[in-house]
Amino acid sequence: MMSKRFEQEIEKYLTNRFGTKIKKASKRQVYEAVMSVVRDELSAKKYKYEQQLTKSKAKRAYYMSMEFLVGKTLRNNLFNLNIEKDLKKYLAKNNIDINDLYDIEPDPGLGNGGLGRLASCYLDALTACDYPVTGFSILYEYGIFKQVISNGWQQEFPDHWLELGKYGLVYRNDEEIEVKFYGRVEERFEDGRLVVEHKDYASVMAEPYDLLISGYKSDSVNTLRLWDAKAKTGFDMKLFERGEYSKSSEGSAIASSISKLLYPADATNQGKELRIKQQYFFVSASLQQLLKNHYKEHATLENLSDYVSLHINDTHPSLAIAELMRILIDDYNYSWERAWEISTKTFAYTNHTIMAEALEKWSVDLFKPLLPRIYSIIEEINKRFCQWVIDQGKDYTLAETAIIYDGMIRMANLCIIGSFNVNGVSKLHSDILVDSTFKTFNELYPGKFGNVTNGIAHRRWIAQANPELTEYLETILKGDFVKDLSKISELNNFVNDKKVIAELNKIKLIKKEQLAQYIKEVNGIEVNPNSIFDVQVKRLHEYKRQLLNALHIAYLYKEIKYNNLKPTPRTFIFAAKASSGYHTAKNIIKFICSLGEMIEQDPEVREYIKVVFLEDYKVSLAEKIIPAADVSEQISQAGKEASGTGNMKLMLNGAVTLGTMDGANVEIFDAVGNDNIFIFGLTTPEVEELNRQGYKSWEYYNKSKRVKETLDFIRTLTIGGVNFSFIADMLLTNDTYMCLADFDSYVDRQSDVAKAFEDKELWGRMSLVNTANAGIFSADRSVEEYAKDIWNIKKVK
Ligand SMILES: *Cc1c(COP(=O)(O)O)cnc(C)c1O
Repeated sequence: MMSKRFEQEIEKYLTNRFGTKIKKASKRQVYEAVMSVVRDELSAKKYKYEQQLTKSKAKRAYYMSMEFLVGKTLRNNLFNLNIEKDLKKYLAKNNIDINDLYDIEPDPGLGNGGLGRLASCYLDALTACDYPVTGFSILYEYGIFKQVISNGWQQEFPDHWLELGKYGLVYRNDEEIEVKFYGRVEERFEDGRLVVEHKDYASVMAEPYDLLISGYKSDSVNTLRLWDAKAKTGFDMKLFERGEYSKSSEGSAIASSISKLLYPADATNQGKELRIKQQYFFVSASLQQLLKNHYKEHATLENLSDYVSLHINDTHPSLAIAELMRILIDDYNYSWERAWEISTKTFAYTNHTIMAEALEKWSVDLFKPLLPRIYSIIEEINKRFCQWVIDQGKDYTLAETAIIYDGMIRMANLCIIGSFNVNGVSKLHSDILVDSTFKTFNELYPGKFGNVTNGIAHRRWIAQANPELTEYLETILKGDFVKDLSKISELNNFVNDKKVIAELNKIKLIKKEQLAQYIKEVNGIEVNPNSIFDVQVKRLHEYKRQLLNALHIAYLYKEIKYNNLKPTPRTFIFAAKASSGYHTAKNIIKFICSLGEMIEQDPEVREYIKVVFLEDYKVSLAEKIIPAADVSEQISQAGKEASGTGNMKLMLNGAVTLGTMDGANVEIFDAVGNDNIFIFGLTTPEVEELNRQGYKSWEYYNKSKRVKETLDFIRTLTIGGVNFSFIADMLLTNDTYMCLADFDSYVDRQSDVAKAFEDKELWGRMSLVNTANAGIFSADRSVEEYAKDIWNIKKVK
């Protein structure tokens, strides 16, 4: 019996490591023991799985990403190993609540938001579906900052997650890799062949730490390899003797900064340089290690693309393309032409955004001294690409398509040119890529562009986050939807079953009561679990339009206070981090918190509406909020949210979407039908048209009484000493995302939401339909598409 063996291992660990017994051990000691035993169990399984992989000579995928927002691992692993229930009982017998151990585990913030969470959802799903895959990223010592809201203002604190998180990691000191920066490139002919040598470089050592990924009821174990940057031990005697002492210690100065922080602010040149260092550091280490292993096994790299698919998650790992070329040419003597053939058969790229500011560009002046050899390779790729475009008679497109242009290196262009496949992340987004953002590239490379709509690891987002709902659904559905989420569609059979709807409503209320309890503990605010839980949780960004949500709140306040409106009671729940240098985003947080403060002090108003801002949004907080949501706010300006995945998590947990026709909202609309979603606002073509004409915010102010009165009201607000007329000014003078254009239709739809919510049965049915049709948003479905249509990898059991 697996759990018996586990118990023995835990007790052995406590005795050997701490000289104690489970009954006497502290929670911290038991936490360490359980984490370590789970890690070793996965290590042993991994060993067996690796043997299987070697035997079957299976092709593998490698997912390179600057971010993996893994979430807490312990509960997920116990769940996947199918021992959570037994272990819980055993611990309880020894007076330990398993939840206390879950609370001790840090939530590793190795990502900012959706993009990083997606990478982790995919590793989980790939493993559950028995696909061999390795993730590559950086072992950030400090992940994303810990957010504290103090008097309505965001403050950032370091999150030292490794202190308690390290017990989940396996240090592989046998596989460290040297990565080279700076220096100069020397070219010479030897036996009629061009030899390139990188000289006087500074070295950084990449040390691998593996986070083992378990799969639900599966024998597969995959790896997320996180590289830590360390100085090369000892210093360079030769450099020292030549009097170049500062050079010999250069590597250690670089090393200490590379794996320190996730996305340090890149406003300064120094920050940008650090960002490039991070990106090159992890792709170089990953590829060097991978090719070394491949060569050891096959004695050639000719067949690389038969065994390896390299995935570039957004442009951050784009230097992998140049790095693979470098290794093939400089280290393995390949010709340029052959190296390019191998390389372009191996890389695939996912685009995650069309926001201009997020399409990475580096200045040549900054880049070239830092990575001279990589720069010369990018230059050559660019030269050959431009020649090819000229040969096609399309040279007029070069201002748009060249990699190097106007002193800048455009990373998305490198990714498109160097990959055999490019995909967007929702139908709408992928259409925008080929119709607009990369229209010319699509003409140059017909067939290269495709779509894979994002998905979520449903085992975390329903089975673990919402056990109450899962257990109930298991009693009424025959199919095992935890194994295969498409089976959840069976719930549609109960769409007219009043008993089932009532039962689902009851479970939702339980989740809302649990969240209300948490809100009371953390924010000190009492919220009514029978009010509408209206939830907007995601990174704070102007395009996501938390401000539109706040405008509606200000409008309701004014109507309740001065026009005798008595709306359906509602609790507005926000959680969001603002990037530390993003002042507008921080001002929006302050505005939301101040509205909350004003309402809380007003007995007339707080009876109807409340505003709660929960600090430090992260995976484990999302797991608490999402099961309790009635309304899922997905109100980005149409065309701006590539997909969204928060929308999918909320839908699966029975929240009804209030959204624009943006990202995957479009596919949610298709799945649930017009009656089970609230759509408002301009469509993507309408936004584009308005942009062409020029968006004139004051026209909306003059035309709409509601817009005018709400903005005028906001001008009068001074809360806690802060006057908010600047919010009205911003909306009238400097709002790229056109909040005022969508305000009236948003307010109308919000009142439809309230009306529908009053009818418990109607609302319960809408909620049911949302859960029942969320099957297509399982990450299992997404990764099957990647495996089959892009990577060409097979399951290995
Ligand atoms: C799912 C998730 C996101 C993405 O949310 P969107 O609404 O799609 O932007 C961001 N952060 C965390 C912690 C998540 O779990």
